[in-house]
Amino acid sequence: MFNVETTSAQTFKIIKIHCQLSREDTATIYKIARYEASFYNAVFDTQKNDSVAINIHVFGRKADFKQTPDGENSLHFFADGYYLERTGEIFVLKTEHVNSALLHEISHAFLHLNLKNPPQWFDEGLATYFGSLIVDNNQIFYTPVVGRIERVKEMIVGKQFIPDDFLRYNNQNWSLNHQSITDKYTIAYSIIYFMVKTNLNLIKHMADGLKNGQTANQVFAEIFGSAQGFNNRYTNFYQQQNLD
Ligand SMILES: [Zn+2]
Repeated sequence: MFNVETTSAQTFKIIKIHCQLSREDTATIYKIARYEASFYNAVFDTQKNDSVAINIHVFGRKADFKQTPDGENSLHFFADGYYLERTGEIFVLKTEHVNSALLHEISHAFLHLNLKNPPQWFDEGLATYFGSLIVDNNQIFYTPVVGRIERVKEMIVGKQFIPDDFLRYNNQNWSLNHQSITDKYTIAYSIIYFMVKTNLNLIKHMADGLKNGQTANQVFAEIFGSAQGFNNRYTNFYQQQNLD
């Protein structure tokens, strides 16, 4: 599922605004885009992600980034990037974390091209998962986010959330969820991480279900027998995580 095919049909456009990108920087951005295109092709059983057009605006100066359509939004400002759904464009500031920001925002762009109104936990969970990939020496590899995993274990012990309840927070009421923003992203990431580590096909199963109008809870109940079945598997998974 994570095999990267080199396709050239992809029509990514990188727009630089007072920003220098070396030939390697540009090659890395294309590499990230191709990697995610092949992931979303596999998940949605399609080839269309190889030929979608996405504009990526890369800013060298914070002041210019702030003047973009939603650049004043404190969340976007904090993340040094965002995906603008209504135009399908990506805006990122070139910092030392630019590759993480790109991995995160490009995931949003692809998911929204394949699935209308994805649930927020799925959208941010996948984007946060991608954002944690490491790009080094023209290679992309995975490493677990120890801080998020430790935090989720702590929240499970403290009974600070119930996994299947968390899935009910959709785009409309995500902000009503009482967790802090960071914890919401952490829980969303943890559900994706649990799925990837348990069986990569779970992501595909979830994507299929959501596309067919099922809720995430229905999909998990189908896979794990019941909501409780999902809660137990998820909880056990994190109780067994020992990261040093
Ligand atoms: Zn995001």
